[in-house]
Amino acid sequence: MTEAMAQADLIRMGVFLAIFAAMASWEVLAPLRRSGLPRLVRWSNNLAMVAVGNLLLKLVFPLTAVSFAALAQARGWGLLGQVNWPGWLELALAFVILDLAIYAQHRLFHSVPLLWRLHRVHHADTMIDVTTALRFHPLEIALSMGIKLAVIALAGASAEAVLLFEIVLNGAAMFNHANVSLPAWLERPLRWAIVTPDMHRIHHSTLADETNSNYGFNLSCWDRLFASYTARPSRPQETMPIGLDQFRDPRDAWLDRLLLQPFAPSQPSPEG
Ligand SMILES: [Zn+2]
Repeated sequence: MTEAMAQADLIRMGVFLAIFAAMASWEVLAPLRRSGLPRLVRWSNNLAMVAVGNLLLKLVFPLTAVSFAALAQARGWGLLGQVNWPGWLELALAFVILDLAIYAQHRLFHSVPLLWRLHRVHHADTMIDVTTALRFHPLEIALSMGIKLAVIALAGASAEAVLLFEIVLNGAAMFNHANVSLPAWLERPLRWAIVTPDMHRIHHSTLADETNSNYGFNLSCWDRLFASYTARPSRPQETMPIGLDQFRDPRDAWLDRLLLQPFAPSQPSPEG
């Protein structure tokens, strides 16, 4: 591993731990909703999923997305590599392209039944908090990585752009899954730019038309642009049921069940 890559990993880890600690503390000090399950059970199993996912990623992919971007850049691959853009513009364009790709991928995982089986593990959490942001089935994580590498190669995103995007996306996901709510004076202007916790929580509602909306993870413009925006849930944010009807047994929160959920008998995707 080059020194630059080791440094990138260090920055990523530092920002991740800082934002995780900040959101977790905020949730403890001012939680919006009460959890039905003990925090220890949810947290230990959700975080164990993260560990399994990262392990699989390391086994399957010899390169990180950042080092792959450096390779793509050196070979002049992709759209952005064809023009000599100013550095800031190239960074901004790469960021927007990657964010749009994540939005499109998220919609895809909701609409293709086989992919929904993987993605529903994220949605089956009956509570939504900072650890939900990290709880994805390892197969979804590996598949997302493959899609991300293809987008990086097609877009020609630089290593710096990919590192920035990964750090911001990770931080944004922990922020918008957090069990907190912003005051109205902050919520309104902020939601015009980014996805807030109140906006994303609607995506975790048990109601299908709410689950199939607010797909954005980072910039909030995509849902408005592509007509998938729900401004308010039909039930109160504090008490509306979260999760999936199919997986409400407390045992469903445990690692073994989480890993097997994609293979459980199917209930159609909320989108049908
Ligand atoms: Zn989703």
